[in-house]
Amino acid sequence: MNDEVRRIKERLDLVEVVGDYVKLRKAGKSFVGLCPFHQEKTPSFSVSRERQTYHCFGCGAGGDVFRFLMEMEGWTFPQALEVLSARTGVVLEHRGRRREEGGDVLEEALAFYRASLGASEGEAARAYLRRRELPQEAWERFELGWSLPAWRSLEDHLRRQGLNLRDAVERGLLVEGPKGTYDRFRGRVMFPIRSETGRLLGFGGRLVDGEGAKYVNSPESPLFEKRKVLYLLPQAKRAIREKGSALVVEGYLDAIRCHLNGHPEAVASLGTAFTEEQADLLARQADRCLICFDTDAAGQEAALKGMYVLRRKGLDVRVVRLPKGKDPDELLRDPQGAEAFEGALTEALPLPRFHVAARRKWLEDPQERKRGLEEVLGGIASLSVLDVRPSLPDVAADLGLLPHELEALLRQRGWGGVSEKRPPFPPRSGERGEGIFPPPGVSIHESGEEEPAPDPWEAALCHLLWSREGSRSSSAPEGVLPLLRSECARAVASALLCGESPEELEARWLQTGDQRSAALLALGGAFLEELYLEESPEEEVLRQLRLREWRRRYEELHRRVVRKESLSEEERKDYVAMAAKIKRGEKRSYERKAP
Ligand SMILES: [Zn+2]
Repeated sequence: MNDEVRRIKERLDLVEVVGDYVKLRKAGKSFVGLCPFHQEKTPSFSVSRERQTYHCFGCGAGGDVFRFLMEMEGWTFPQALEVLSARTGVVLEHRGRRREEGGDVLEEALAFYRASLGASEGEAARAYLRRRELPQEAWERFELGWSLPAWRSLEDHLRRQGLNLRDAVERGLLVEGPKGTYDRFRGRVMFPIRSETGRLLGFGGRLVDGEGAKYVNSPESPLFEKRKVLYLLPQAKRAIREKGSALVVEGYLDAIRCHLNGHPEAVASLGTAFTEEQADLLARQADRCLICFDTDAAGQEAALKGMYVLRRKGLDVRVVRLPKGKDPDELLRDPQGAEAFEGALTEALPLPRFHVAARRKWLEDPQERKRGLEEVLGGIASLSVLDVRPSLPDVAADLGLLPHELEALLRQRGWGGVSEKRPPFPPRSGERGEGIFPPPGVSIHESGEEEPAPDPWEAALCHLLWSREGSRSSSAPEGVLPLLRSECARAVASALLCGESPEELEARWLQTGDQRSAALLALGGAFLEELYLEESPEEEVLRQLRLREWRRRYEELHRRVVRKESLSEEERKDYVAMAAKIKRGEKRSYERKAP
């Protein structure tokens, strides 16, 4: 077994495996990126190609390729071993173990369903797919299948293949009844559901004829948790990362239709409740997210809750509003509808405005207005100033208020406050609107955060100033200090740049019991050691910190441009200059990748 692990590791490059989840950049001998295990804005997460290990200087996560996938995917060690052996072609000695995992039984079932769709018994399903205007290439591309309308066709097939029927029961393919087992999916078009990495987890089945639930999914189990998957994520991941934006729809066919019509960044949420775990999957790949749910009340309610979940994960989220009664599949099938769809995407509403729109009925009803207003204001007040400010005038107009009146109402509810206590939780209103606000006391104000954990790049700069006389004498305070965001890092750097010696500083820390500064230097030292920046480490560290400032400034201006706010002449120049600087700066990091 140790030998198997060793051979698997030899055939894998951790940098590539991690690269499936995290955008990595070369820095010295390592690669760095935003840590997938904690929220951060500058990269503390480093991967060493030489050692084939990763380490996060922010949260302490670390290990090898097995540990990474186990943490990322929630796999056990045997599961990781199984997947990696399949990926690398390293044969495991105890072959029985793979069968026990049950992955084979799902793949075998999928192959059987797909063959059935093409066989003569599949005509009913093929006719259905033709009615839904899904071309045959799409059946192949999205691995669609057909479960025969019979009680034991899959069961018989699996038995003939010599597969363990217990696995098939555990994976939800067969149901155990009083008279023995039988097929769960009968007479349904089958949609395979895969994990982020493409591992088959379960199925969704759409009834074609007869009575029964329109959609049936594989049952919930530790191996298939609906709240942790997004349909078509493996196919959409690359596009999501490239566009920096994801499109979330409700149904299997909606997602497929979007992929066929130039929106490969679409995923489906498998049911209406959008979960924290699903938001995490997207937040790792994108900064923006569009939600496009059904226009019925349940769909709109789900969209509203989903937006708050996504916003809490830091995504810029908007809701796409389609013409009444249409879903993306219907709309995109019709050539004129496609145009309407694109229009709806560009006119997607930001969260505060959508919340008002979703409560329009209450707000217009004199009996309900108070309740509606209270809920809307409570929700909006839980957002950061940055999120709300651009749409404040529109929201005020939507509510029939003047902007300063709205602002006062929001402030009464704790909006934009740094130290103010948050007001009590907004009153619960029956089933509707429940649970979309953060729990009381949890602040998501950007300005309300405590001093953030020190950034390893800032710590590295402090360490260089502390350990190298040359760094101190060649750096000017006005060039360095504005790049530092952590108060602690700024204090250390400014003391050193103003002539205090490392020995004097250490003595002072000892006297005042300051442990944070020493911890900062230790972090910086460890980070530098990990990066192993050969020539002029100061230059590289300063470059990273400058790049961060440029990005921050660019994003701030970009947000305003997107919202069609006007920029002053100077700001416009700044905007263009930042874009060019960032491009040049990033290009340099990529050039360094080449030996
Ligand atoms: Zn981390």
